[in-house]
Parts: sequence; C-alpha cells; structure tokens
Amino acid sequence: MTICKKCGMKVKNGYDCEHTNFDEYCKECYTELHYYMTEKENIE
Ligand SMILES: [Zn+2]
Ligand SMILES: [Zn+2]
Repeated sequence: MTICKKCGMKVKNGYDCEHTNFDEYCKECYTELHYYMTEKENIE
C-alpha cells in the first residue's frame, strides 16, 4: 500500500520517476503530471 504524495490517496501501486522526485504518486496524479509536461512542450 502506497500513499500518493500529491493527493494523499491510498493506492495499491504507486508510480514514480524523476519528474515526481521519486515520490510515489497515484496513477491519476502521475498521469496528470505528465499531461501538463506535455502541454508545456506543445506551447513552444
Ligand atoms: Zn494522487
Ligand atoms: Zn516522468
């Protein structure tokens, strides 16, 4: 059991990468984080 660093929701499997500073996020927050990163890239 993992607690999402961002929203505090308990999830079975957390996701992390360098973008989350290796804190574990739930799938929703993790997806959202990468969604906004992609958006930023697309603005340029
Ligand atoms: Zn979350
Ligand atoms: Zn990432």
